[in-house]
Amino acid sequence: MSNIVETLLNDNLVGLKPYESARRLFAGGQDWLNANESPFANEYTIDSKRFNRYPACQPEAVTAAYADYAGVDISELLVTRGADEGIELLIRTFCTPGQDNILICPPTYGMYAISAETCNVGVKKVPLKSDFSLDTASICAQNDVNLVFICAPNNPTGTTVNANDLEQILSHFANSALVVVDEAYIEFDKDNTWAGQLNRYPNLVILRTLSKAFALAGLRCGFTLANLPVIQALLKVIAPYPLAEPVAQIAEQALSARGRANVELQVEAINGHKKWLQEQLAGLPGFRIIGDIRANFVLFHSVHNKALMAYLVEHGMLIRDQSKQQNLDNCLRATVGTEEQNQRLIGLIQNFLQQTGVSA
Ligand SMILES: *Cc1c(COP(=O)(O)O)cnc(C)c1O
Repeated sequence: MSNIVETLLNDNLVGLKPYESARRLFAGGQDWLNANESPFANEYTIDSKRFNRYPACQPEAVTAAYADYAGVDISELLVTRGADEGIELLIRTFCTPGQDNILICPPTYGMYAISAETCNVGVKKVPLKSDFSLDTASICAQNDVNLVFICAPNNPTGTTVNANDLEQILSHFANSALVVVDEAYIEFDKDNTWAGQLNRYPNLVILRTLSKAFALAGLRCGFTLANLPVIQALLKVIAPYPLAEPVAQIAEQALSARGRANVELQVEAINGHKKWLQEQLAGLPGFRIIGDIRANFVLFHSVHNKALMAYLVEHGMLIRDQSKQQNLDNCLRATVGTEEQNQRLIGLIQNFLQQTGVSA
C-alpha cells in the first residue's frame, strides 16, 4: 500500500477486504446459481427523452406503484439503489460511528455486518438456535443496540421467523432500537410479510428488493418500508439522485399490473423447480437438506463439500459455499435456476459421486 493511503486510511477499514460477492468470486462460469438471482430475464423499453435532466429523488411512478404492491402508504416508503443501500442508510442514519452497535443473528446475510464495519459501527451477534429460530431471550438481553437486523425468509437458511418471537422483540426494543425485517425473498413466502404491521410498531422497518423474485438484480432497486418519522430521517442522508432515470422507468414497468402478474407466474415456476431440486438433493447419498425452502434457493449439507464445490466450478456450475458461516459446516447453497440448469446441477453431482466412488 502507498504511504499516503496507509497514513490516511480510516482505522476501521485497515482489516477489511472487499465483499466476496458471488460475481466477484467467479467471473466466468456458465450456470450462475450462486447469487439467488432469478433465471428469467424479462424485456423492458427505455425512453431517452428525459436523460438530459436529473431524475427525481423519489420518482412517484415508482414509489406509488410499490406502495400499492406492498399495501403501505406512499409516505411509508423509500426507494433506494437496492436493499443494500437501505441497509447502509439505516446504519448511517441511526448509528453513531465508534459508539453505537447493530445486532445480527448469524448465519445470515453478510451485508449488515459489512456495512456496519465500513461505518465504524459495532456488530453484536446473537446466533440463531440450532433449528435456526431466533434466540429471543438472548436478543432481548442486548441493551446497547440501535438496529436489530432480522432476515425473513433468512438467507442462507431459507427459514422464516416465529411471529411471537418477532413481536416480543419489537415490543422489547419499542423505545430503544429499530427492528429491521429483511424481506428480500418475501414473494416466495408471501403470507408471512410484516408490511401490514407498520401501524402497530413505530420501530418496525422492512426491506424489500426487485433483485430476487422481480428478476432485476442488474437494476439495483430496493425499498425501505417504515413509519413516516423513520423515512423522514433517512431522507436527510440519502443521495439527491439515488435512482438513475432508466432504472426508474424499468422499475415502473416491472411494477405494472402486467409486470406483477408475470412475477407471480415466475415465482410459481421457481417454487415448483425448488421442490424438485430439494427432493433430488435429499435423495443423494451423504446429502442432507438444511433449514427450509421459503426462498429461491436450497441449502444442503454434503460431506464432500470442498471437492464437490471444486468439481462444479470446474464444470462452469457456480453455487455458493456457506461453510464459513456459523453452524453451517459443509453446507452449500444452490439458487433455483431454469429446469435445465437444475437438471444439469443434479447430473453433475451424480457424476461427481460416481467419480469419487460413492454410488447412489
Ligand atoms: C440479495 C439480498 C439483498 C440485497 O438486495 P439488493 O436489492 O440487490 O441490494 C438484501 N437482503 C438479502 C437477505 C438478500 O439476500
